Amino acid sequence: MSKRDYYEVLGVPRDADENTIKRAYRKLAMKYHPDRNPDDKDAAERFREVTEAYEVLSDREKRARYDQYGHAGVDEQMQDFWGRGGFQDSHAFRDFGDLFGDVFGEMFGFGGPGGARRGADLRYKLELTLEEAAAGKEVELRIPRHGTCDVCGGSGARPGTHPVPCSTCGGHGQVQVSQGFFAVRRTCPACHGSGRKIERPCPKCAGQGRVRVEKAVKVRIPAGVYDGAQVRVAGEGEAGMQGAPNGDLYIVISLKPHPIFERDGADLYCTMPVTFPQAALGAEVEAPTLEGKVRIRIPPGTEGGRVFRLRGHGVRDVRTNQKGDLYVKVQIAVPKHLTPRQEALLRQFAEEAGDEVYPERTSFLDRVKRFWDDLAGEE
Ligand SMILES: [Zn+2]
Ligand SMILES: [Zn+2]
Repeated sequence: MSKRDYYEVLGVPRDADENTIKRAYRKLAMKYHPDRNPDDKDAAERFREVTEAYEVLSDREKRARYDQYGHAGVDEQMQDFWGRGGFQDSHAFRDFGDLFGDVFGEMFGFGGPGGARRGADLRYKLELTLEEAAAGKEVELRIPRHGTCDVCGGSGARPGTHPVPCSTCGGHGQVQVSQGFFAVRRTCPACHGSGRKIERPCPKCAGQGRVRVEKAVKVRIPAGVYDGAQVRVAGEGEAGMQGAPNGDLYIVISLKPHPIFERDGADLYCTMPVTFPQAALGAEVEAPTLEGKVRIRIPPGTEGGRVFRLRGHGVRDVRTNQKGDLYVKVQIAVPKHLTPRQEALLRQFAEEAGDEVYPERTSFLDRVKRFWDDLAGEE
């Protein structure tokens, strides 16, 4: 069967930008989402098709290969992608995890056929301030999810009754189908692989074995987590169907912007204005750090843009456990809204000082002059 063109699948032009592709995928993924189209094989296939198209077109490298070589350029990678089921690494999951929450286990093959389904993995976005991320934090999250039904204990059967073996597959969860000379095993269509049939469903969960609950989960966020980091909490995802193992909970860290510091890995950066006289005469000033104020000595004649490095005042690296540094960049504040007397003093200073007290300015003027002279010499 020949594959359709990915651009055609998403209905976008070949020069579509990232956002157009995102929007197109979201729309189609919602339309063909298995939750909205239960037991619709065509929709499931379309869902898979648009997800694959998005996986390729949202990845600069894969898209370039696809543009150049067509399906042949990415087919092997995509087979690997579906095969290993490492869907958490995919662009679709990173960008639209909220969309996948429930279908995850069902669509992308956790647990596989021949048994009850493992619960889906859940994603939870946690916003932290820089201080919280730097220090680490114990958080209690209230996670809405499917939990094991307390009335039937997860069996799905009305209390006092028991599930009986599925008559179609004799309780194996799989049936044999002849295909030419071969006999192929397939997931049983009657029990969807569980091997059981519930004759009198539990009134609370209607035979699902699980119900929607909000569960409090305590999680220790390690010190030094970075923006976009995922903290995995094993077994705290969705409950499995009819007694199968739970999925995992992934907490995705999102850092709030900080009013003073910018962060790059374990290092912090900030820009600190000092006054023109402080920079010229030298001064002792207070620099902010995450732990409090630190005094730093600005030497006389400090130029704007000069960077002071405060060792060990960064953030602890979550992998190496080393503390990063804080880089404080000096910005020269220029006086504004002067009183007549302040203005007169400054004019007096300017007249008396001239250009020679500004070495970087005289050196620049020299270089400009030489440049003009060279140009004139070439004519
Ligand atoms: Zn129940
Ligand atoms: Zn069956």
